[in-house]
Amino acid sequence: MIIDSNKFRITDGRKFHLKDFSTAVDPFYADKTEYKTQLKENLEEMSDQQGKLYATGKFSLLIILQAMDAAGKDGTIKHVMSGLNPQGCRVESFKQPSALELKHSFLWRSTLRLPQRGEIVIFNRSYYEDVLVARVHPEILDVANLPDTKFGRSFWENRYKAIRDYEQHLSRNGTRIIKFFLYISKEEQRLRLLDRINNPEKNWKLSLNDFEERKYWDEYMNAFEKAIQNSACPASPWYCVPADDKKNARLIVSDAILQTLKDMKLSYPEPTLSHANVLEMLREKLEEN
Ligand code: ATP
Ligand code: MG
Repeated sequence: MIIDSNKFRITDGRKFHLKDFSTAVDPFYADKTEYKTQLKENLEEMSDQQGKLYATGKFSLLIILQAMDAAGKDGTIKHVMSGLNPQGCRVESFKQPSALELKHSFLWRSTLRLPQRGEIVIFNRSYYEDVLVARVHPEILDVANLPDTKFGRSFWENRYKAIRDYEQHLSRNGTRIIKFFLYISKEEQRLRLLDRINNPEKNWKLSLNDFEERKYWDEYMNAFEKAIQNSACPASPWYCVPADDKKNARLIVSDAILQTLKDMKLSYPEPTLSHANVLEMLREKLEEN
């Protein structure tokens, strides 16, 4: 089966409505064997593309993962990363901001962790938290001592604009940005949280906070919808990935990353004439002994 991640891509946020998307779709695999084969193929091609990205050293790829708890961010990262060369690839996780981070603009801490040219970086959560968790719980902004004291409509509009400008700036500098919202249903989250309680090896993953945040499900969905509406564009699209089925979600994410890398039309750099001469000279010497 052909995996078509384009179905879930949003390049014009103004037309995005969460209700048009689903947390479950017909899977792109018939059985576990086909899933494994397809994922393996995607990862091999991705690795090949990564080699070119690294060798060219001109562009970079920033992959942003956002989701509710237990939506499968960690598993997606583990599987997708397993296909990449660790040299040239990094994962950066964003938790509650530190005291130092709170003294800066909300984009500051991300800037420090962006990919270098040639690199692929995955943001496990990101500056989007500042329009997601912060939008649902604006009271957490009190500790940041911001010049704004009211967190009304214009405050959020300004944050979305800051994000759009930031991503445009990065894109002009050769960073391709793709953003994934792993979209699960509230019922699927309930089952996964229960599984974390029932399975001793998963106990460590569950916190009281995950449970508390479930009460704000609708507010979070609203914040996700607004964030995507205000920041999806051709240069930095969102993918609203149906994630009730973890395997299918991994296939979609890996396909989207692969297609993005292919769109960059990467190739290994041709040696310059002088470098070609050096190579020829070295060949002769090495062939001698
Ligand atoms: P895990 O899968 O291990 O639970 P996680 O990403 O959920 O991974 P946690 O330490 O459980 O990690 O949670 C990180 C918390 O930090 C989340 O609740 C998230 O909303 C919060 N957070 C991240 N960025 C910000 C931010 N800019 N402002 C406020 N809270 C933030
Ligand atoms: Mg968590």
